[in-house]
Amino acid sequence: QREEWRKLRDEATVSTDGVHVELAANIGTPNDVTGVLENGGEGVGLYRTEFLYMGRDKLPSEDVQYNAYKTVLEKMEGKPVVVRTLDIGGDKELPYLDLPKEMNPFLGFRAIRLCLDRQDIFRTQLRALLRASVHGNLRIMFPMIATLGEFREAKAVLLEEKAKLASEGVAVSEEIQLGIMVEIPSTAVLADQFAKEVDFFSIGTNDLIQYTMAADRMNERVSYLYQPYNPAILRLVKMVIDAAHANGRWAGMCGEMAGDATAIPLLLGLGLDEFSMSATSILPARSQISKLSRADMEKLAAQALDMQTAEEVVALVQSIEG
Ligand code: PEP
Ligand code: MG
Repeated sequence: QREEWRKLRDEATVSTDGVHVELAANIGTPNDVTGVLENGGEGVGLYRTEFLYMGRDKLPSEDVQYNAYKTVLEKMEGKPVVVRTLDIGGDKELPYLDLPKEMNPFLGFRAIRLCLDRQDIFRTQLRALLRASVHGNLRIMFPMIATLGEFREAKAVLLEEKAKLASEGVAVSEEIQLGIMVEIPSTAVLADQFAKEVDFFSIGTNDLIQYTMAADRMNERVSYLYQPYNPAILRLVKMVIDAAHANGRWAGMCGEMAGDATAIPLLLGLGLDEFSMSATSILPARSQISKLSRADMEKLAAQALDMQTAEEVVALVQSIEG
């Protein structure tokens, strides 16, 4: 099996009926890029920039960030790199920000909410990203977007920083795609409207599942409700993918679900364009997809969407593996 996977390293990811999808990797630091390339990653689908901010006693400077982003972009040699802007809060704390304790941190002041309030932090990161953009194929993604207003505001800040850099004579790429994570049900439901304004979606199922099921992803006692295969989740995923395609955009997924062998046939059938996962899952996923027909998976996904429970969906997927 390992031998088979190794052969797939430099291959495209294609279903038996000729449909291409992209398999990308989730990374946390520039050092992770080596593993992405060794495992045949076609891009970085999620660079979690939080790690630049954690494990230190003050905010990382613009230059520290610029160097990290530039390193990743250069090492990826023109392959797409989706960088997520700071997603702090929830389970990830920054002691030096000295934020008040909250009753429900996962529902609180985090990610884009914090960045729109603390624009000093946000603007520094955006400048570093824009400066790094000339070193590769950069895509920027905002986390935890709940409303169109948040997206528009964040985009306006980005454009302001871009204009400032231009007036300072600093080169910035004109090809930067701008997208959002879909992690909040309100955004999945209005995906048709978002799709008119964003370049792409990346579905963050780790959070989308917890917010849809109202089940804390860290709480063992409600973990039975954490159901990736619940038809409710699959229908939200479908809404996002369909909205993207109706507007000529692409839709990816960077939650754990994207690398899950049980989910992959369903996601292929729903039309997902990009799957972003831990690097070590890429070759097994490529092997799996190369043996599946997208047309057959479309039928499978249609059946799954009409089911009532996650258990029924799992049994359905297992029936094709036989
Ligand atoms: C997600 O929510 O699915 C996601 C990829 O982001 P994180 O796991 O960093 O919250
Ligand atoms: Mg998330």
